[in-house]
Amino acid sequence: MKLYMQVLIALGLGLKRNWHIFAGLVLGVLAGIWLHKDPNPIVMTTFTFIGQVFIRLIQMVVIPLVISAIVIGITSIGDSKQLGKLGTKMIFYYAILTTIAVAVGAFLAIVMQPGVGATSFINSEIASDIQLQVASTIEAQKGNLLNIILGFIPKNPIESIVSGEMVPIIVFAVLFSVALAKVGEINRPFVSFFESIFAATMKITDWIMCFAAPGVFALTAVSVSAFGVDIFLTISKYLGVLALGFGIQLFVVFPIFLKVFSKVPIWMLYAAIAEAMMVAFGTASSSATLPLTIACCEKRGISHKVTNFVIPLGATLNMDGTALLQVVAVIFLTQAYGVALTPFLIIQICLLAIIASSTCAGIPGAGLITIALVLNGMGLSPEQLVAGFAFLFTIERITDMMRTLVNVTSDAVVAAAIADNENEINYDLLNNPEFNEVIN
Ligand code: ASP
Repeated sequence: MKLYMQVLIALGLGLKRNWHIFAGLVLGVLAGIWLHKDPNPIVMTTFTFIGQVFIRLIQMVVIPLVISAIVIGITSIGDSKQLGKLGTKMIFYYAILTTIAVAVGAFLAIVMQPGVGATSFINSEIASDIQLQVASTIEAQKGNLLNIILGFIPKNPIESIVSGEMVPIIVFAVLFSVALAKVGEINRPFVSFFESIFAATMKITDWIMCFAAPGVFALTAVSVSAFGVDIFLTISKYLGVLALGFGIQLFVVFPIFLKVFSKVPIWMLYAAIAEAMMVAFGTASSSATLPLTIACCEKRGISHKVTNFVIPLGATLNMDGTALLQVVAVIFLTQAYGVALTPFLIIQICLLAIIASSTCAGIPGAGLITIALVLNGMGLSPEQLVAGFAFLFTIERITDMMRTLVNVTSDAVVAAAIADNENEINYDLLNNPEFNEVIN
């Protein structure tokens, strides 16, 4: 069969398999528009409740899943030379994609100038409402790069697990797994223990996904109802630049990346992870989507070893969609307030966005909090910073949904490329869309 036919079939089956989530998404947008026009508190409360049930259910499995996936991934690689090679490659690929993302964002924002003349959208009344919240965010982030890095090292791993801090959890899990791999056969009972945890959490994920359609529907409806379609028109240029940037990343950068570094057919991969992409959009959380991203990749032939190593780390560290948003948002504000953008300032914004995005957790809104790191030193007055934040908050959810979709896709793209390089991908499974049906 010709490749394009296979791709069409794969996409068709991808949609057929996930039609209920897709329908949830579309109906959610329509319900959101209706709710915006005619807010009904009972309906809103019900939708918020349903959405929260879904998010909490998936959040419930994230920590056991991340820890067990990392232990299995790293101990199955075993040999520390191979682990080093794989780890270096992963960081290299993630760095390439994030660097391109910030470059795309900066280029589009400079050429299209979405912020010029935009001060009227930056409403200082809303700003005063959230002044306190914003001021403390800015204060917490100020000149704090070293403290942020220090915070990655858990003083007490159990405390990090209890408070759900993903980066310290990952640091501990990685170190612990490398040590387990080093001690040899004696690690067997412990690794088997984590294999059981992993298998059980994936089973729970399957059950939770039965609830994906109503969950995604409710979450989308609530977010769309907060801004309606009118806000789209008012700030269409800003949203347009973002959508174009995310589109370039998804449809130009990722395909070229996979062509250069592997022979993975991008459309087959997209068809394989369609479900995870839709849930990422609905939940705006890479962490919450993580179980599904792993399941989608494994079901379509990317090995356990690569998936379990690359994707949990990517869900926290690899945030190219977030980095792109941060660059566009900060350049937007500097344009709106007439701050002169020197090449030096642009490079500073890009570098800080790479750091800020990779320090942010894969949860809704995290990227907007770490943006404070990028905004500092932009020469904006405290009032302008607060008002700027207020503007970004107004349209936070929709931009979060878009950037999370890019973040999650990028994790799968890197996993697929590494699996290809290491001969850890079963192309019969990836290229034959029918297989998915059988496995499901
Ligand atoms: N919500 C994003 C994610 O989970 C992070 C962000 O806020 O940018 O990937």
